[in-house]
Amino acid sequence: MTPPTYDIVIIGAGAAGMMAAGEAASLGAKVLLLEKMERPGRKLLITGKGRCNITNTAEFKDFIKHFQPNENYIKHVFGQFFNTELISFFNDLGVATDEERGGRIFPTSDSSHDVVDALVIWLRKNKVDLWGRAAAEKFIIKDGRLNAVKLFDGRLVYGKSFILATGGTSYPATGSTGDGYKMVKPLGHNITEIYPALVPFLTEGDTAKLLEGLSLKNINARILQDNKVLFEEFGEMLFTAKGVSGPVILSLSRNVVPLLHQDQEMTLSIDLKPAVDDNTLENRVRKELDENGKMYFHNLLKFYLPQKLIDVCCKLVNIDPNKPCSQISAVERKRFRFWLKNFNLKITGHGGFKEAIITKGGISVTEVDFKTMQSKKISNLFIAGEVLDIDAETGGYNLQAAFSTGIVAGRWVVAYLKNNVE
Ligand SMILES: Cc1cc2nc3c(=O)[nH]c(=O)nc-3n(C[C@H](O)[C@H](O)[C@H](O)COP(=O)(O)OP(=O)(O)OC[C@H]3O[C@@H](n4cnc5c(N)ncnc54)[C@H](O)[C@@H]3O)c2cc1C
Repeated sequence: MTPPTYDIVIIGAGAAGMMAAGEAASLGAKVLLLEKMERPGRKLLITGKGRCNITNTAEFKDFIKHFQPNENYIKHVFGQFFNTELISFFNDLGVATDEERGGRIFPTSDSSHDVVDALVIWLRKNKVDLWGRAAAEKFIIKDGRLNAVKLFDGRLVYGKSFILATGGTSYPATGSTGDGYKMVKPLGHNITEIYPALVPFLTEGDTAKLLEGLSLKNINARILQDNKVLFEEFGEMLFTAKGVSGPVILSLSRNVVPLLHQDQEMTLSIDLKPAVDDNTLENRVRKELDENGKMYFHNLLKFYLPQKLIDVCCKLVNIDPNKPCSQISAVERKRFRFWLKNFNLKITGHGGFKEAIITKGGISVTEVDFKTMQSKKISNLFIAGEVLDIDAETGGYNLQAAFSTGIVAGRWVVAYLKNNVE
């Protein structure tokens, strides 16, 4: 018996693949969605610490800035399906949403399960065939077009068109292990260098270990190279057993990791008092030392620093914590004041793909038409989601990109089939 030929075979049931499948099926196509893991949306379930930050309410021009340097590609996709459409889409599926700090949108239930469940019900309603434990290995080409996809277990699945939505290679335990890159290379697609992005940094010495668990709010984190500021971010950070993490560090990592791979030396410089300039801080420190002459230095530090940072500060600025303030010399005072604005830690490395929120790099954006998500190499192949060289900072931007590229691919593959196959 000849196996059925689907209109569209979609590889990968993550955010992008599920959106593409539901959209194409709702437009009347016969769709098969292949998923390597037993169930769809494994990565979606762990997003936003299990709460799933689906998008952000930022205005279009600010939103696309988060995708630098490839914002001029993704903007064509967001022009067709953006944050308001995504929020309405989930609300219509019964997932109520709330806006939080920084425009982040979460399900009101705070549960990523509700997002995945709603998508699966939508797929069922639109009669998408979903196969779990169906890992695609390679495409079969016939007459310059894709004819089938071969699964690792030997099965062949035939289709008139295909959407690749296998994700990147971060958090591989969720199923995203970079298979898509291997599948498109033989078709002539180029993969730009891939790096783990939105990852913690490793730092030199035992300072981070001593501060493990300490979170610093409202700090300015700068990346220095030869005393030149390369990048900076304001916000919150966290010390880990081996280095630093938290929102500002993850954001900085998008730019810093590729430079670390070129063996460039970089230092993280934390400004603990970004709201005050050097002079104002100098005057404040001098005044407080004068006014509290009998107080031990470590007690005065309580006015400036969280408890956990006090011993580390004394060690780094080389001042005896039990010295009365009246005995702190001008040199020591200046050293302390300088350190408050320049708490420096040498970056020695970064977290790997296992803990990266996203993969930087992927299928070259120049080889895909971002108005349709059609491959420029193979006409009946469309590509969506993180497998592409598209990535952004945290805040809901990456999921919006996956959902939007999925919808656009699903929509345009149906138009392609109408014009070229029927
Ligand atoms: C811990 C964590 C938290 C995150 N939180 C957020 C957040 O709150 N907001 C946000 O915007 N972004 C977040 N992200 C990023 C976001 O999850 C991804 O950008 C998004 O999931 C990418 O969607 P995708 O569909 O392209 O890929 P994925 O979600 O990775 O889906 C790809 C799917 O393809 C399947 N697959 C892979 N290879 C094959 C194969 N050979 N055959 C068949 N199937 C295959 C995989 O099993 C997987 O199910 C987070 C990421 C992580 C790791």
